[in-house]
Amino acid sequence: MLHPLIADPSATRHILKKFKLRAVKGLGQNFLIDADIVNRIVTAAEICAGEDVLEIGAGIGTLTQGLLEAGANVTAIELDKKLPAVLKETLAGYENFRLVEGDVLKINLSELMPRRFKVVANLPYYITTQILLTLLEKNLPVTKIVTMVQKEVAERMTAAPGSKIYGALSVAVQFRSESRIAFEVPPQSFLPPPEVTSAVVVCDVRKPPFEVDEEFFFKVVRTAFAQRRKTLLNSLACFGKEKILASGIDVKRRAETLSLEEFAALCNFLKG
Ligand code: SAM
Repeated sequence: MLHPLIADPSATRHILKKFKLRAVKGLGQNFLIDADIVNRIVTAAEICAGEDVLEIGAGIGTLTQGLLEAGANVTAIELDKKLPAVLKETLAGYENFRLVEGDVLKINLSELMPRRFKVVANLPYYITTQILLTLLEKNLPVTKIVTMVQKEVAERMTAAPGSKIYGALSVAVQFRSESRIAFEVPPQSFLPPPEVTSAVVVCDVRKPPFEVDEEFFFKVVRTAFAQRRKTLLNSLACFGKEKILASGIDVKRRAETLSLEEFAALCNFLKG
């Protein structure tokens, strides 16, 4: 069956008009209308036919179609209750597609995706960080995460210690994966165009470089960055000031100066 291409400005306008839809700003709806960008995302994800892919936010099925055409088994989560009827039509005939209606932050992803899978998504920008932290902090069988995010978030994901934008997201991304910004995407590639430049980030998930109790590690990292302007002695006081002082780290430092290795060592000391 030959499917009409969704990643096109007039096709997208036609679909929205037909279903009497408007992009909902509050749901971060900026639909891709650029076939070249869809192809580049699919290429960056190195999709092999038959592999499982989780897409977060299917929209009207634009990126989904690229993934399905590459042969992936796509499970797509979508929160907007108006979109399943649209997807039923735009993706009719693709047998490798499964839609899950609901909020990605409330769905049990380990149950939904029990086998090895990749995440490929043009994320809703209002909750990008929560989604990424959820994917990275839980030990899911995910092998690669390819996401479209705001350029500024892409820079935070790949930021080095000591920089102002280095934070809990940078630590989580770098603890879990080798990451890189693959390419930038201009506002004109979307309908409606967002106010910011976007970027696609590729995270190749691998074994973490340090042995830690992961749940505790992420708790320490989040706590340290929750009040990032405070010194470690104060931001981590809830773990016991005496213990922080005994750890050997310079307690006047701030979280943003700690490397991954230093976070791991501190976490193991506090846990011990
Ligand atoms: N994948 C489509 C594309 O590339 O054109 C749409 C991407 S759009 C940036 C983000 C999508 O995520 C929207 O369809 C929106 O309704 C959906 N969304 C927003 N919040 C969500 C949530 N909490 N859980 C699941 N989907 C959500």
